[in-house]
Amino acid sequence: MKEAADRFCRQDRTIGFVPTMGYLHEGHLRLVEEARRLADTVVVSIFVNPTQFGPDEDYEKYPRDPEKDRALARAAGTDILFMPHKDELYPANFQTYITQEHLPNHLCGLSRPVHFRGVMTIVAKLLNIVKPHYAVFGEKDYQQLVIVRQMAADLNFDTQIVGVPTVREADGLAMSSRNKYLSPDQRQSALSLSRALSRAKEMVENGETRSRAIIEKAAQAIASAPEAAIDYVRICDPESLEDVEAIDRPVRMALAVKIGNTRLIDNILLTPKRS
Ligand code: AMP
Repeated sequence: MKEAADRFCRQDRTIGFVPTMGYLHEGHLRLVEEARRLADTVVVSIFVNPTQFGPDEDYEKYPRDPEKDRALARAAGTDILFMPHKDELYPANFQTYITQEHLPNHLCGLSRPVHFRGVMTIVAKLLNIVKPHYAVFGEKDYQQLVIVRQMAADLNFDTQIVGVPTVREADGLAMSSRNKYLSPDQRQSALSLSRALSRAKEMVENGETRSRAIIEKAAQAIASAPEAAIDYVRICDPESLEDVEAIDRPVRMALAVKIGNTRLIDNILLTPKRS
């Protein structure tokens, strides 16, 4: 991969990079499309990164389908599909990790304490290997996007971090590899996430500016869905991820909910009505 990247560089060909954990869906393919639009060459990586999973999380059973992924990535116009082996990226004496002071201390970072350290470490490693001009990430994982952008700026990576809006199923559910875990009934309950966010957007469009009122409504709606257990529902500053009390500028509403054993996340931009 490093040799190929150097070759593209010598040919003055720009590289657009899409890091994924595989089990590709249309959300991933939208990122590939964006990378193609931006760059001459598209690299997609598939690597289920062990360091971003906590000890009680789903690393072992995370869905994998390399053959289908290969076909989908190729059909979407991927030039290089990079599928490194775990031991290549984490040899036995591996001991260096990236951490960040503030952004991981919010939202998902509170219930997944090692997650973003693992994410930053693997993204930094992949950026050093692929040396892309652009790296494309989904807004679906909004905190991850903000954290990676901060890391790339803080550590002077030569890569422009690009965000792409969330791709949803026809009924609103944000696409995710983990949706595969849901039974038909749980799939129905999972709709409470996107519905709560749409309702929040409507409230803001109708003039509501109090975060607390919006969060309460959303939490009630989600809590009444069968098998749903809320991790968090928050409205925060889109850059610092600090809670905001009044929606007087564009903000992010983000939530994480367990449906049975499956942890799902979603988020939306809330823009106040112009007075
Ligand atoms: P993952 O394979 O889940 O680690 O995701 C790889 C990349 O795809 C990340 O940048 C995600 O934010 C992005 N992604 C995942 N689901 C979606 C979606 N529904 N819409 C847009 N991007 C997504």
